[in-house]
Amino acid sequence: MKYYNLKDSQEKVDFRTATIKGQGKDKGLFFPESIPQFEKEFIQNLHQYSDEEIAYRCMKDFIGDEIPSEILREIIAETISFEIPLQKISDRISILELFHGPTLAFKDIGARFMSRCLSYFLKDQDRKVTVLVATSGDTGGAVAHGFYGLPDIDVVILYPKNRVSPVQEKQLTALGENIFALEVNGSFDDCQGLVKQTFTNEEINKKLFLTSANSINIARWLPQQIYYLLALKQWQKSEKEAPVICVPSGNFGNICAGLLAHLRGLPAEHFIAACNANDVVPEYLKTQNFKPKKALATLSNAMDVGDPSNFVRIMELFGQNFGSLKNKISGYSVNDEETMNTITEVHKKYKYILEPHSAVAFASMEQYLSENPGKKGFILGTAHPVKFPDAVEKAIKVKIEIPESLNDLMKKEKKTVEINSDFEELRRFLLDKN
Ligand SMILES: *Cc1c(COP(=O)(O)O)cnc(C)c1O
Repeated sequence: MKYYNLKDSQEKVDFRTATIKGQGKDKGLFFPESIPQFEKEFIQNLHQYSDEEIAYRCMKDFIGDEIPSEILREIIAETISFEIPLQKISDRISILELFHGPTLAFKDIGARFMSRCLSYFLKDQDRKVTVLVATSGDTGGAVAHGFYGLPDIDVVILYPKNRVSPVQEKQLTALGENIFALEVNGSFDDCQGLVKQTFTNEEINKKLFLTSANSINIARWLPQQIYYLLALKQWQKSEKEAPVICVPSGNFGNICAGLLAHLRGLPAEHFIAACNANDVVPEYLKTQNFKPKKALATLSNAMDVGDPSNFVRIMELFGQNFGSLKNKISGYSVNDEETMNTITEVHKKYKYILEPHSAVAFASMEQYLSENPGKKGFILGTAHPVKFPDAVEKAIKVKIEIPESLNDLMKKEKKTVEINSDFEELRRFLLDKN
């Protein structure tokens, strides 16, 4: 499979190059040259295949022979080595729990797959590699854990000061060793802007071998398709109709992977992009006018994105056709008050504890279902409630315990360097680090 740059389709690279470079010329995102189709027999009989086999078939076409099959199978087994259950919340809404991985976030899946691919591709390099990543909360921890202790790879994480939760902050600042956390006086968009600027800076790129681990990297984006298949495998056990799939969205990598799987043949009745007050995409779907905004701080802070990078991929998937996009996706924007009420109500009615991102999805799904009687579906549960204790405890008036697996982490010291949202400060840090 070749991947072309969405800003310059003349630039075509293989999976290895796209994984190592992260993005193409002009900060363009890579996109697969063709959309490989699933076999009908496979999709209709997912229950006959193991999860590993499903994941392998999902990924194989995108990688070809660039990673030997037995190594790819190992990478995949490590990527999905925790449970991903589909749980019923109400009669019409289930949740795919993607938060049983090492950092209790769905991003563990993409980050684990990517770190292992990168490590495979770089094993014969004699230069140290620096993975540079901006996080609005969960990416940082997942990437840090994915790469922690890997030889010859440094990870530099930029996160917005005071906008991530205590568990999240610990997950990205307490590891140390090859993991460097930078606390930025600014928003997630500022962090992402600094990262993008660094990738185009000649001086830094001469001195450092830089790569990204944001969801713009295809090795993080593509494996997210896997769990849509694993969800469908479970869905098919009790349901005949294709599900409505609702994805809490920030940078739109997750829903974009679901849409890709759908265009390859995964049955889905409809997709819902569930957003918080950062409503650029819901507004676009209403007005056909894509207007990036400054990110607003909300309770669901991993979705505080004012200019979602992966949206260009979604447009490409739909051939830049607004009509066909609108047929397949609806967008909803849910404010903090509705988010809190949803957590309270769902706990009261169904004894299920949602965290703010999944609550945004639940509220969006309810709205869609009330407008579309007879339909059913599932939301993606992208994080564990313990990562957002303030909001959850306030909403349900019950204390949520930190799982034992996090006790040691919470006791560790936070190690960060604070910088302003200023490229010069980042430049100095990166050059001094080496
Ligand atoms: C990152 C994140 C999202 C948003 O995912 P995107 O792929 O950026 O749309 C949603 N929920 C949680 C908990 C996240 O960490």
